[in-house]
Amino acid sequence: MQSLQAQVLVVGAGPVGLTLAMDLAQRGIDVLVAEIRHRGEPPNVKSNHVSARSMEIFRRLGVATALRDAGLPADYPNDVAYRTTFTGTELSRIPIPARKDRYTARGGPDTWWPTPEPPHRINQIYLEPVLFAHAEQQHGVRILSRTRIDSFTQDVDGVRATGVDLDSGEALQIRCDYLIGCDGGRSAVRKQIGAKLSGMDVVGRVQSTYFRAPSLLGLARHPPAWATFSLNPRRCGNVYAIDGRETWLLHNYLLPEETDFDSVDRDWALREILGVGPDFRYEIISKEDWIGRRLVADRFRDRRVFICGDASHLWIPMAGYGMNAGIADAMNLSWLLAARLKGWAGEGALAAYEAERQPITEQVSRFAMNHALALQKQREGVPEGIEAPGPAGDEQRAKAGRALYELNVRQYCCGGLNFGYFYDQSPLIAYDGEPQPGYTMDQFTPSTVPGCRTPHLWLDDGRSLYDAMGPDYTLLRLDPAVDIRALEEAALERGVPLAVLDLNSAAAPDLYRHSLVLSRPDQHVAWRGNVVPPDPLALIDLIRGARPNQ
Ligand SMILES: Cc1cc2nc3c(=O)[nH]c(=O)nc-3n(C[C@H](O)[C@H](O)[C@H](O)COP(=O)(O)OP(=O)(O)OC[C@H]3O[C@@H](n4cnc5c(N)ncnc54)[C@H](O)[C@@H]3O)c2cc1C
Repeated sequence: MQSLQAQVLVVGAGPVGLTLAMDLAQRGIDVLVAEIRHRGEPPNVKSNHVSARSMEIFRRLGVATALRDAGLPADYPNDVAYRTTFTGTELSRIPIPARKDRYTARGGPDTWWPTPEPPHRINQIYLEPVLFAHAEQQHGVRILSRTRIDSFTQDVDGVRATGVDLDSGEALQIRCDYLIGCDGGRSAVRKQIGAKLSGMDVVGRVQSTYFRAPSLLGLARHPPAWATFSLNPRRCGNVYAIDGRETWLLHNYLLPEETDFDSVDRDWALREILGVGPDFRYEIISKEDWIGRRLVADRFRDRRVFICGDASHLWIPMAGYGMNAGIADAMNLSWLLAARLKGWAGEGALAAYEAERQPITEQVSRFAMNHALALQKQREGVPEGIEAPGPAGDEQRAKAGRALYELNVRQYCCGGLNFGYFYDQSPLIAYDGEPQPGYTMDQFTPSTVPGCRTPHLWLDDGRSLYDAMGPDYTLLRLDPAVDIRALEEAALERGVPLAVLDLNSAAAPDLYRHSLVLSRPDQHVAWRGNVVPPDPLALIDLIRGARPNQ
């Protein structure tokens, strides 16, 4: 039997496990990742959207540029188009910049992002190999491909996991301080810690077909789009451009009464969604029938074992926010674990993961479900005459186009989901009584109320605030005359790494409103004030999870 050791064992090298491993390693932690798949093997064709928040993380991890260079051709429109069929009449269009214009485009609903890294449209089959290659090269990360983790035991000193090398059949034992299950929707780690999923078992059923059709692009009567929705009384669906040339992912949304996937003729539905006749040729690359759900685990942790990503929550991928919520989990957990392993955080820090992430997960899952149900209503209400020629048809198309735009611009330009969520029940945050501003899927108010995302701004020297902040806690100082020595000394006394950054930015006074804002390693506000608090050690102990009651 092979015996290995690491500080953290990550089970699963999907997007969540890989991001977690990279971030932990950058924080100086020794990480082992076990993955059933072959080295760098792409996943199924699933997520098509990397959120701005995830891209900010990838920027910090040094992989954003490589990701921007992958996926659709640089000039391929990232728009979302609504049509009667893929080859039919266009009803409306949400303009989203192609990746060559991503940083410079102005105007339109998708160019206002207050971040150095706006969203990126790329399918998971291109995303994951880039993440894998980056993770594999990183000092501190070891990836065991073709390795399955089967079970684990834990005690006060650590975790002992057992698994198998799937090629040689050799058994494997791994000793680690912490084990993180990033092992997807069927997570065995979730089951072993006794966590239960609850929510809504079926929000919708989808028949997905990944196919090659080099002629399709040329058959459309309107400019290409990243996502093209078809709405007609026969069959509604959505087609994602995967390589921008000949490969496509088509989702056929089944009607509520179509509970049996096989009852719907896949070929017929595909042709109705595309609006093509029997002479249209295509080749199926893969197909998948799946159920969109809204399920959240009742616990994210059992002592030294945690779950992250699809292992802890599953929902219908509206607003492109399944994987991205998992990446946000990973970023929340990563610095807490690293801080604990490095010795500057108390045991209380680890309790923050579930306290902070579970409520957000519930919220996002409901946004996604409600949006899915609203879309279902819209599909059910497609007027019979939507394809009728002449002014009567034109009027129906214009009306439907407006409604589709209004509803969907919120999910495709979802600033609220990216930046609006806040942690309001955290043991590590010093709240000051001001409530965090509410948010919707698309709207949010940048705020320094403790728990909110540290508002981004551009510094006067042209740098992004996020590039200028330290990797751990950063004290942002608007007024350089404020004496911060007592807080620095308290941090030093407890071994808490604290960088100080004077916020030289014209935008800072209005946005920050306080002389001092303490930003966490995950860029959420931990505390703010105009002077150092009277008991700075108490504040430092709170934010590192080491108060007596934590
Ligand atoms: C059709 C579709 C469209 C989607 N679109 C979007 C979108 O636009 N945006 C978005 O954010 N999300 C989207 N999602 C969701 C997204 O694909 C998932 O949320 C994401 O893949 C979850 O990542 P993960 O790393 O948590 O899990 P996974 O990607 O499932 O990775 C888990 C990994 O763990 C490995 N593993 C499992 N068990 C073991 C074991 N015992 N030992 C070792 N390894 C193990 C698996 O092989 C796998 O590689 C979509 C999903 C679907 C189905």
